[in-house]
Amino acid sequence: MNWFDSHCHLDFDAFDDDREAVIKSALDKGVSHIFVPGVSRDNWQKIENLVQVHPMLCAGVGIHPYFLDTYQQQDLDLLYNYAQKGWVKAIGECGIDGFLAATTRFSVEQQQSIFEAQIDIANQTNKPLIVHHRKSHHLILQSFKRCNPKNGGIIHAFSGSLTDAQHYIALGFKLGCGGTITYERAAKTRNVFNQLDLQHIVLETDSPDMPLAGFQGQVNKPERVELVGRCLADVKGLDVAVVAEQTSTNAKTLLSVS
Ligand SMILES: [Zn+2]
Repeated sequence: MNWFDSHCHLDFDAFDDDREAVIKSALDKGVSHIFVPGVSRDNWQKIENLVQVHPMLCAGVGIHPYFLDTYQQQDLDLLYNYAQKGWVKAIGECGIDGFLAATTRFSVEQQQSIFEAQIDIANQTNKPLIVHHRKSHHLILQSFKRCNPKNGGIIHAFSGSLTDAQHYIALGFKLGCGGTITYERAAKTRNVFNQLDLQHIVLETDSPDMPLAGFQGQVNKPERVELVGRCLADVKGLDVAVVAEQTSTNAKTLLSVS
């Protein structure tokens, strides 16, 4: 079985001491691909360096709402230049965070305009989007209506309603299924994933964040994508091998990797 972790922040400082060991351990446990989203200008070169030495890694570049502290207008020009590089498979992680708006100098309107600029870049460079959402499905769908993303993408850590899911699927998006479903209390999200066809789902860990049930308080690792996949197979009553195969194919096709 081969697993594809479609969302893993391997470039983050949390992995500076053991990154090589984490990658090797993931490979040993059947993870064939890891996608690393880029969250700010400060990370893009580090990610490029990583992708160049590890054939199992693929990556994107984006400006994440959590990392707007150092944001400058010219970051969008730099993003556009990076987006034309061969190793860049997607634009993101980008999006809108409805919680964050209360605590940052960036309003929801400003987040939305930076997000829409990135949708435009994805369209100009023919890339899919990796989308962060929190209390913001209505705003993200509004931006999609305005900017019309042409190459689909992934709604990272999807936790909306079945109706939200159907809207995204109609626009060519896959739904990211992560550690949330390993918690008994996530009945609503489990129920939505149970109702979705497997062809619309990709797996992710969001390492080093979003620890799985049983691993609370620990640094999350890409090797645990298998546990997410096993949980999804359980929820949907499907064979684990079928889940591994189909979700990997979904991610490879969307991100244009072999
Ligand atoms: Zn992320």
